Amino acid sequence: MPIPTDPIPQNLPKSVTLIEVGPRDGFQMEKTVIPTQMKVEIIEGLIAAGFKHIQVTAFVHPDRVPQLADAETLVKALAKHPDVIYNALVLNTRGLNRAIAAGMASVEISVSASDTHSLKNTGVTNARALNEALEMIRTARKNGCHIRAGIQCAFGCAYEGNISQTRVLEMTSRYLSEGIDMLAIADTTGMGTPAMMTDLLEKILPLAGGVPLVLHLHDTRGLGPANVLAAMTCGVTHFDTALGGLGGCPFIPGAPGNIGTEKTVDMLHRMNIETGIDSARVRRCAERVLSLRHLFC
Ligand code: ZN
Repeated sequence: MPIPTDPIPQNLPKSVTLIEVGPRDGFQMEKTVIPTQMKVEIIEGLIAAGFKHIQVTAFVHPDRVPQLADAETLVKALAKHPDVIYNALVLNTRGLNRAIAAGMASVEISVSASDTHSLKNTGVTNARALNEALEMIRTARKNGCHIRAGIQCAFGCAYEGNISQTRVLEMTSRYLSEGIDMLAIADTTGMGTPAMMTDLLEKILPLAGGVPLVLHLHDTRGLGPANVLAAMTCGVTHFDTALGGLGGCPFIPGAPGNIGTEKTVDMLHRMNIETGIDSARVRRCAERVLSLRHLFC
């Protein structure tokens, strides 16, 4: 029986781009290391489902995040698809240099707006991490990389509580002044509400101008879908999602999963918003990932 959909919405985007972050944000939280070949198969499944932009790994210290210690091997094993962007997260110059040496064409350079989270995640304060990030952006640009600049904990921090909007806006301006290809605003701890989304996004979007803003949401308290709707109402058209709603930050206690890819695809399609993703195929990818989780945990 066909499932009814909404009429084409008037006050929302007609289409939305979803960026899969499960192979990075999702797998980094799994207790057992997923074999590289399985990661490759899952990423191929995502491409077959229609994904054009996938965050495949992070170049971070293998002792800190052993699940992603195979970053170089994984990147080498991935098939080239001319219309697909593989992105990797990097948090310091060493990680960036590894990513460039591995041939990554797209990197996310990301800094936490929270000093405490920044210290736990990278060992330096926000100000020091930001200065290093700006230098990294220059290096990445010289090497011809597509640059996604990220702000973690933009809507609050599990350690510090509220995060100053002024700091998030200043970080945004400094990123933009370096020339970036994409701005990623993350609710790393899932503390954001629809009103908080609207309040911050209405200030950031005019600054971003033509640079696409991707929103990275964690569905900590069931507010994920409501926050997607609020952000779309503001004009956001790019969202990170993770298969099976996996994900979290190893350095934030109780950080739960990202908004789930398959559920977000279904939600958007029911709202008559295009994603270019085949919902049946993506559901099969999610089932595969969740069955692996069942096997390994
Ligand atoms: Zn995340």
